[in-house]
Amino acid sequence: MLGPGPNTRVRRLPEKARYDADTINAILDEARFCHVGAIVNGLAVVLPTLHAREGRTLYLNGSNSNAVMKSVVEARRACVTVTLYDGLRLARSGFESSIAYRSVVVVGSASRIGDATDKARILNLFVDAILPGRASEVRPMSEQELRLTTVVAVSIDEASAKVSSGPTDDFEEDLDLPIWSGVVPARLHFATPIPSTDGAMAAGDVALPASVRRLMEQQK
Ligand SMILES: Cc1cc2nc3c(=O)[nH]c(=O)nc-3n(C[C@H](O)[C@H](O)[C@H](O)COP(=O)(O)OP(=O)(O)OC[C@H]3O[C@@H](n4cnc5c(N)ncnc54)[C@H](O)[C@@H]3O)c2cc1C
Repeated sequence: MLGPGPNTRVRRLPEKARYDADTINAILDEARFCHVGAIVNGLAVVLPTLHAREGRTLYLNGSNSNAVMKSVVEARRACVTVTLYDGLRLARSGFESSIAYRSVVVVGSASRIGDATDKARILNLFVDAILPGRASEVRPMSEQELRLTTVVAVSIDEASAKVSSGPTDDFEEDLDLPIWSGVVPARLHFATPIPSTDGAMAAGDVALPASVRRLMEQQK
């Protein structure tokens, strides 16, 4: 169990809360990006960014001048959230109308990764988090790219998930109203790849890589 901890106890609708590592890790891994909160010049700033998970560590990266990363490293703590959009939950009342979602809040200690070899390895995790298998298809990272990038490790000290799914939560007195009610599931869909037309791609003889082919296959 990764929670509930002092900062991660779901108060509202606690029946939707999950604290087991399997549920939390699955949501973190399925999420394409996260939101990181930090205090910047006295303001609570929340920015979207990519993340990659390895065991109980969540990695973030940004340019060395990224204010949120700097603030997180200074505070030595971070709060990171992810949300998956699973569809519509259309109740008979506006009050109970909602969306289906799975979300996670992680609270943990944060530190900068200093070692260049570690950094290079972790940055490849981000490339594979964008598309599994892509890291081995792109050119290796240059020393300058490594130097310009800050990588932050957030230890998943405590975490909570909230899962909103299933039929609508209509009020008993609304059930006989002649108003359509139900759920409309949603899922992320990738359309047909559009190749670049510049440089070596202009000739049109660079084959679609295995990573993209797998992605297309999975959608069939
Ligand atoms: C896409 C989406 C839409 C939502 N829309 C609304 C809305 O319109 N109105 C509304 O009131 N609420 C909405 N929620 C729920 C909202 O995120 C909070 O859960 C809720 O507002 C307050 O819960 P709380 O009082 O328990 O949170 P707090 O007591 O403020 O939070 C305590 C701890 O509970 C945990 N927690 C709270 N919320 C979540 C969560 N969503 N996922 C994982 N852990 C959580 C965290 O660890 C947090 O630190 C939405 C959630 C999602 C994902």
